[in-house]
Amino acid sequence: MQKYLWKKSGLVVIGMLYLFLAWKGKRMIMVSGQELVEEPQEARKVALTFDDGPSEYTVELSRGLKERRVQATFFLLGENMEGRRKMVEELVKDGHLIGNHSYHHVQLNKLSIKEAAREIEKTNRLIREWTGKAPVYIRPPYGAWSQELEKVVDMIPVFWNVDSLDWKLQNKEQVLSCLSGQVEEGDVILMHDGYRSSVDAAFALVDHLQKQGFVFVNVEEMVLE
Ligand SMILES: [Zn+2]
Repeated sequence: MQKYLWKKSGLVVIGMLYLFLAWKGKRMIMVSGQELVEEPQEARKVALTFDDGPSEYTVELSRGLKERRVQATFFLLGENMEGRRKMVEELVKDGHLIGNHSYHHVQLNKLSIKEAAREIEKTNRLIREWTGKAPVYIRPPYGAWSQELEKVVDMIPVFWNVDSLDWKLQNKEQVLSCLSGQVEEGDVILMHDGYRSSVDAAFALVDHLQKQGFVFVNVEEMVLE
């Protein structure tokens, strides 16, 4: 009888231990579940922008960014667009935003207003015809803008606050070390899609920053913030 009781209480202890562990396990899942729901990691937005394209690397860049769920902004140069309609269509298909970077990469504030307007309109027309959408954003070459242009041109100028110097460095590792520790929430990063090294650096940068909780948006989303 005693032996039987001992056996019985042993079973009860094992049963209770099992229930406790099951409860604890469930609670842990719930706790971590709650953390996920109640305290999501703040999305830190940054915008990647590419000037002077399209180029022979643009489609590869566009696709690689899409695979990484990155929406970037491409400020296209009219003279580089000629004969590359398909590339521009690919960019749109991959979800990127298209902006204007003038036709001949000219310093707009050094031209007469009439000439500057012609530079801008020529590229706008190509973008409109090929994408079916009039561009809203312009990146003035060299960041050169003026109050006069501001009054006359019905577009939003977009500058940058982080320069990758990719056009000068033309080396993936050097571009990455130039950007290392520089990028913060709300930044607009300037790159150029005309270099193999820039494409490789952009992918590595995205992979690195996404792991840190950064989310890449186009400049429209950044402006609307
Ligand atoms: Zn440029």
